[in-house]
Amino acid sequence: MLKLNKKGSLIVISGPSGAGKDTVVNKLKEINDNIWVSISCTSRLPRGSEIDGKDYFFLTKEQFEEKINNNEFLEYAVYNDNYYGTPLYKINEKLNEGIDVILVIEVQGALYVKQHVKDAIFIFIMPPSMEELKNRLVNRKTESKDKILNRFKTAYNEINEITKYNYVVVNDEIEKASNKVNSIIMSEKCRVDRIEDVYVSNKEEMIHELLMDKKFDNE
Ligand code: 5GP
Repeated sequence: MLKLNKKGSLIVISGPSGAGKDTVVNKLKEINDNIWVSISCTSRLPRGSEIDGKDYFFLTKEQFEEKINNNEFLEYAVYNDNYYGTPLYKINEKLNEGIDVILVIEVQGALYVKQHVKDAIFIFIMPPSMEELKNRLVNRKTESKDKILNRFKTAYNEINEITKYNYVVVNDEIEKASNKVNSIIMSEKCRVDRIEDVYVSNKEEMIHELLMDKKFDNE
């Protein structure tokens, strides 16, 4: 019998700041109830209406470094002078329950996961244009000009790494983009390499059962 591996997939989503990754993932949560979005730790200060434990776990630099020393992260990176990291806590538990785990992380962290985790899926969210990205960053009005400039320069570096991802989704419309991400997740579940290698293990037994089946006795 063919048996599908029912374990959840690890899906890594990156894209420049302002590409709308979080909005796409929030929409995705509405259309797919089999996903769990990891909440990262960061040493940066909360921005706008962000809430501790919902948007991030906000830590001091020292608290973050203590967690690094205790090997509490799947990956972590320094981005625009702040630490960001994915807590290991709960990830395996969710995957074993068959739930797909989503990490929304920047490129360095994603590339680390690519080297260390087998079978993860990598999706890059692109803004419709760099002009649009600039407008989105400026219109957020939550950061200084310097910080926005930094994020904009970093965006160019991140886009340079796009070929290391498996899929690219342009976020021109939230609904369309989240549907595309969902389709990617669904089609990954149908991959032939998710078939577990167990189907020949009881071949002789199955053939014997068929030979002995009484239904054919009158033939
Ligand atoms: P922001 O400051 O805009 O919330 O996040 C800056 C960047 O850090 C974004 O690209 C975001 O996806 C990324 N990020 C958030 N959490 C993590 C994490 O746990 N690890 C890594 N490597 N990047 C993260």
